[in-house]
Amino acid sequence: MSGEHYDVLVIGSGPGGATIAARVAETGKRVLILERGDFLPRERDNWNSRAVFGDAKYTADETFYDLHDRPFRPELHYYVGGNSKVYGAALVRLLPGDFGEVRHQDGIAPAWPLSYGDMEPYYVRAEHLFWVHGKHGEDPFAGVSSKDYRYPPVRHEPRIQQLSDDLEKLGLHPFHLPLGVHLTQDGHGRATTDSRCIRCDRVDGFPCLLGAKADAEWAVLRPALAARPNLSLMTRTTVERLVTDAGGRSVAGVTVILPDGSPHTFTADVVVLSAGAILSAALLLKSASDRYPHGLANSSGMVGRNYMRHNNLALIAFSRAPNPTVFQKTLALNDFYGPSKDWQYPMGHIQMLGKSDDWQLKGAAPRALGWAPSAPYSEVAGHSIGFWLTSEDIPRADSRVTLRPDGAIKLALQPGNNTAGLTRLRRTFQEVLAKLGMADTTFMRSLYLHKAFDAAATAHQAGTARFGTDQASSVLDVQCKAHDLDNLYVVDSSFMPSIGAVNPTLTIIANALRVGDHIAELIGTSGPA
Ligand SMILES: Cc1cc2nc3c(=O)[nH]c(=O)nc-3n(C[C@H](O)[C@H](O)[C@H](O)COP(=O)(O)OP(=O)(O)OC[C@H]3O[C@@H](n4cnc5c(N)ncnc54)[C@H](O)[C@@H]3O)c2cc1C
Repeated sequence: MSGEHYDVLVIGSGPGGATIAARVAETGKRVLILERGDFLPRERDNWNSRAVFGDAKYTADETFYDLHDRPFRPELHYYVGGNSKVYGAALVRLLPGDFGEVRHQDGIAPAWPLSYGDMEPYYVRAEHLFWVHGKHGEDPFAGVSSKDYRYPPVRHEPRIQQLSDDLEKLGLHPFHLPLGVHLTQDGHGRATTDSRCIRCDRVDGFPCLLGAKADAEWAVLRPALAARPNLSLMTRTTVERLVTDAGGRSVAGVTVILPDGSPHTFTADVVVLSAGAILSAALLLKSASDRYPHGLANSSGMVGRNYMRHNNLALIAFSRAPNPTVFQKTLALNDFYGPSKDWQYPMGHIQMLGKSDDWQLKGAAPRALGWAPSAPYSEVAGHSIGFWLTSEDIPRADSRVTLRPDGAIKLALQPGNNTAGLTRLRRTFQEVLAKLGMADTTFMRSLYLHKAFDAAATAHQAGTARFGTDQASSVLDVQCKAHDLDNLYVVDSSFMPSIGAVNPTLTIIANALRVGDHIAELIGTSGPA
């Protein structure tokens, strides 16, 4: 292995890394992905709520430190496919307005150096690559799409269809949540979207035992590795630092720890970093040298700053009518996304949660449930409908990733950042639920929210190496190349100058395709797109 040189090295195999590696490999050039994790085992526990949520079996054994230097375990997953192994596969485009400057009560979400129109063709490709099922045109607040989804939307089950009808009667505009899942009657992951796997309520938060969820492993890596001998993947290989050449303008080597514990250095013409927004920033800071004492690519001092992660809330509504829905996560609502006549600032996005089971409700069951004070949790769960409310977090220079003197990662998340939008959104939606006879017993499911350690909610991390045209205030240029270096790109969610209020992954994938096209052209042949 020693002395091996690649055309392109990609660090991390999540949606960003897997997508760009597969795209660049279409050129026939030699591409190597370095991934610290292994393949996630396919086993019964994949769908065991207690193992997944209670024991955090698949969560990385990692310790970060918060603003006050208290240790916590972040919500990270080190596997082939990255965090998409457990994601909810809600693959939603940012709204056109998100690409411009957005005024919030607590500050400004800055404009991107690209418009929705620039990103639109890549959104189409991303939707097709990650098997997205949906229907463009249903959501009047969404941007236009030049092509439809490849698959029709996942049907609402009767209780959710009823909710959709009821919301429409109130003048709202529910739409089918775009989802990267193949749901089948027989559960073998084939694309028959008018039916669903009988017991498949295990998407959001769970690894998919069947490979029927469009995570980065199943949607991209497996097909690309099978089709392209010039693409390779090294698992259990952790990148320790990036080393520059004598001139300091190129990454000359990527130092790793191999699975047997020995160090090794790979070289490549182009290096793409996609380790996730927190770990990519940490790796750049860790790669400080005499030439770059404040960290690699950090002449702006912006590496690690402007960390965002969404303001989220899981809301469970109870009604006396049972909710027998199996796969609940099919509906979404953008009616409160922008400013309204009652409030001049944006509120955010609403989508269904996966169905809560008895284990997930334990510890959070509502005392207010007078009709079922001692009911078993399974019975309580059978009457619940869950919603996921998201409002925009805004970048702050002091919400940041740094390294402590002992080398550990400190994630200083400033409290109360633009939470007024989320509070408004909750109140407004609770009023809507009240009109549907569902509000008086709402409470918040705490499992996803990491109440004890707020900073641990790292699922939607972004912003730590933002792109832009001004070298003094951004780390990357518009092609996501580091301003300071000629051959280093970053394509995880670090590049985002603002995060909007929808799930980030479709935008990460679309951007990785965009940057992948650019690199493909740069290294000699653009190959098929
Ligand atoms: C429970 C949960 C639910 C979610 N649901 C949704 C959803 O429904 N929709 C949505 O859009 N998003 C969702 N997300 C977020 C989504 O998973 C992330 O946005 C996405 O995975 C980010 O992709 P990425 O490629 O930027 O990084 P990651 O997925 O974080 O991948 C980074 C990879 O880099 C590897 N790595 C890190 N450091 C090193 C190193 N030093 N050397 C080698 N390899 C390294 C990691 O092991 C990992 O595989 C969810 C996340 C969670 C946790």
